[in-house]
Amino acid sequence: MSDVRNVIIIGSGPAGYTAALYTARASLKPLVFEGAVTAGGALMTTTDVENFPGFRDGIMGPDLMDNMRAQAERFGAELVPDDIASVDLSGDVKKVTDSAGTVHQARTVIVATGSQHRKLGLPREDELSGRGVSWCATCDGFFFKDQDIAVVGGGDTAMEEATFLSRFAKSVTVVHRRDTLRASKAMQERAFADPKISFSWDSEVAEIHGDPKLSGLTLRNTKTGETSELPVTGLFIAVGHDPRTELFRDQLELDDDGYLKVDAPSTHTNLTGVFAAGDVVDHTYRQAITAAGTGCSAALDAERFLAALS
Ligand code: FAD
Repeated sequence: MSDVRNVIIIGSGPAGYTAALYTARASLKPLVFEGAVTAGGALMTTTDVENFPGFRDGIMGPDLMDNMRAQAERFGAELVPDDIASVDLSGDVKKVTDSAGTVHQARTVIVATGSQHRKLGLPREDELSGRGVSWCATCDGFFFKDQDIAVVGGGDTAMEEATFLSRFAKSVTVVHRRDTLRASKAMQERAFADPKISFSWDSEVAEIHGDPKLSGLTLRNTKTGETSELPVTGLFIAVGHDPRTELFRDQLELDDDGYLKVDAPSTHTNLTGVFAAGDVVDHTYRQAITAAGTGCSAALDAERFLAALS
C-alpha cells in the first residue's frame, strides 16, 4: 500500500490535466492516472481544434493535449499511463487500485474520466473521423460551409445539431430509423420549420464512403430493406454519449443518464473529498474549454478541502 497522497486524479483529458496543473502548482503533488490506451482523452482522436482560446490559428488536438500534459508535468504532476480498475471512495482515505492491483491512497480524488460518444459501428467510421465524420457540430460545423450534410439521430441533440448546422450548410438531411422523433416538441418544430433541413425517415446508415474524405452514404430503409445513396461531405452522428462512470456506480450518485452528480456550481460529489469534472458530469456543453474550466474548479475545491483538514 502506498503513502497517503493529497490528490489522485483519474483521467487525462482537458479536465484531468487542468486539475493536475492547478493542484501541482499548489504543491499538492498530484498523482494522475491517464488511462492505458486513451491518455490525453477525446481530443487525441481529432485534427484541428479552432475553438480553444489562445491558439489564434487553431491547434491539432493531440498537440493541444501534449502541451497540457507537459504543462502539468512541469509543475510536478506525476503522470501514469494506466487505468484505474477499482475504487473505494467511502472513507477519509480514498483507495484506488491500478491495473496491476497496486492500491494508491489519497485524501482527495478528482474524477475526470470523460464520456464516450456512441458510434454507428460501421467499418469506415473511425477512419473518416475528422475527415467528414464528426460527433460535435459546435466543434466542427464551421468546417462544413455550403456543404451537404447528414445528421443521424432523432433526439434533442440531433435536432440541435441539425438546426445549428443549417447556419453553415447548403443542406442538412436528418437520417432517423423511425418515422417519428424522440426530440422535444419545441426542438422538432424548429427543425421542421427550417427550409434547409429535410428528413430521411425509417432510414439507417448502411455504409460510409469516401477516400480520403467522406463523399457519401448508403442508406437502408429499416422497413423495406431498400437502399439509396446520399451524397454528403459531412456526417454528424448524434445517437448519444455514455459517461465513463462504471467504476463509481455503487459509490457516487449518478443522474438518470448515468452522469456523475455534483453540487453545482461546485464540483463536490455526494462523498466528501471526491470531486468530479468535465464530460463525466456535463451532458450539456461537452467542450474542451468547459472541461478544462471544471477541472480548474475541481482542483480549487480539492485544495480548499485539504486546507480545511489541516
Ligand atoms: P476526455 O477528454 O474524454 O478524457 C477522459 C480521460 O479519462 C481519458 O484520457 C481516459 O483515458 C481517461 N479515463 C477514463 N477511464 C479511466 C480509468 N478507469 N482510469 C484512468 N483513466 C481513465 N471540444 C472542443 O472544445 N473543440 C473541438 O474542436 C472538439 N473536437 C472534438 C472532436 C472529437 C472527435 C471528439 C470526440 C470530441 C471533440 N471535442 C471538442 C469535445 C472534447 O474533446 C471534450 O469535451 C473533452 O475532451 C472532454 O474532456 P474530459 O477531460 O472531460 O474527458
